[in-house]
Amino acid sequence: MASLLIQGGRVVSPANDLDAPLDLVVEEGLIREIGPGLGRRADRVVDARGQVVAPGFVDLHVHLREPGGEDSETLEAGLAAAVAGGFTAVCPMPNTSPVNDRVELTRALLNHASRIGLARVFPIAAVSMGSEGEALTDFRALTAAGAVAFSDDGRPVKTAGLMRNAMESARELGVPVIEHCEDPSLTAGGVVNEGPVADKLGARGVPAASEEVCLARDLVLAEATGAHLHVAHLSTTGSVELVRAARRRGIHVTAEVTPHHFVLTDDAVLQYGTNAKMNPPLRSARDVDAVLGGLIDGTIDAVATDHAPHASLLKARALSEAPFGVTGLETALGLAMTFLVHPGRISMGQLVTFLSVNPARIINRPLGRLAVGSAADVTILDPDRDWVYRVEESRSKSRNSPFDGWKLKGCVKATIVAGKLEYERTT
Ligand SMILES: [Zn+2]
Ligand SMILES: [Zn+2]
Repeated sequence: MASLLIQGGRVVSPANDLDAPLDLVVEEGLIREIGPGLGRRADRVVDARGQVVAPGFVDLHVHLREPGGEDSETLEAGLAAAVAGGFTAVCPMPNTSPVNDRVELTRALLNHASRIGLARVFPIAAVSMGSEGEALTDFRALTAAGAVAFSDDGRPVKTAGLMRNAMESARELGVPVIEHCEDPSLTAGGVVNEGPVADKLGARGVPAASEEVCLARDLVLAEATGAHLHVAHLSTTGSVELVRAARRRGIHVTAEVTPHHFVLTDDAVLQYGTNAKMNPPLRSARDVDAVLGGLIDGTIDAVATDHAPHASLLKARALSEAPFGVTGLETALGLAMTFLVHPGRISMGQLVTFLSVNPARIINRPLGRLAVGSAADVTILDPDRDWVYRVEESRSKSRNSPFDGWKLKGCVKATIVAGKLEYERTT
């Protein structure tokens, strides 16, 4: 395999306290050398002057729709979007058709992904067979087959009893249970956040309590079992407060937030219609502030996209009928740079922590750092580059993004996975 010299960039790797202009030598998929002025010969030199060289981003939460949803996304298109967004690894949720609830399906996904290449794939397997909330899947066999976490995402784990059993199995295996926090008895038929926007649209509202009731249940169970609970797409003020308090009690809980939940409020539904319909819904300005506060003080550990492609035909339905979700792999970095780093809310080091260090830690993979001997998963970004996101240029098969035409500052320049240049921005 060709050797690579990444020259003159600002290397930001908070896991091992690196933030300095350094060169990186990559050989055989590993980082061989890091240091100043390594002007040695390599098969290929990447000029990274003026750019940030970070450990590859890990997305804890994507929907790649294969098998069963190929009209909306394929594994190949989703992984191409991932590397274009700077993600060297992604964790696909199991709510495909069929649901990833068996070893054969987890293995088939990994085999397919390895034939494609591009980004690494770490599957999340279902908590319950068919994610139907009745029978637990075989956590031990699925973990052995390569699943890194368990979730019934798309819906919550149905009952407290099932969640307790799931957590006990997960704790023994040292893997997290990822919860989509929602109490269906509070959200049934809900389309957008409960409040003035829902009233204006005459739409059923989804109250914050729906998320918080489920989260509170799971925190109680995480404390009782000692398991690692990871909260997906946290979106409300109350959820941030619950996680913060749980941390203080020593409960093993981590949390992720999506870019759309820290950038947009429910007002966006008035402007973008179904392309701003997601679950959990976009919330109020007060919730956005609380989520930002949670990122700034480290209550929230990770930024994950919840990349949820849907074919145009589906999103063209009425607001009440269209499916939930937006694409997110190619806009995450630009949005995080524009709304978090450039306004001075968080540092570049914190951003790398949210996109790489912590997600790798949450799924217990030896990634998220640039050090000699580590896997050469590297994201190179141009922090000051102004660009416009054009959804028609997306590598995803779907076009359901509210960010089409948005001016962003900060873009991905190159993505290297196991020493291989899998994406390079040419414009
Ligand atoms: Zn979800
Ligand atoms: Zn999801």
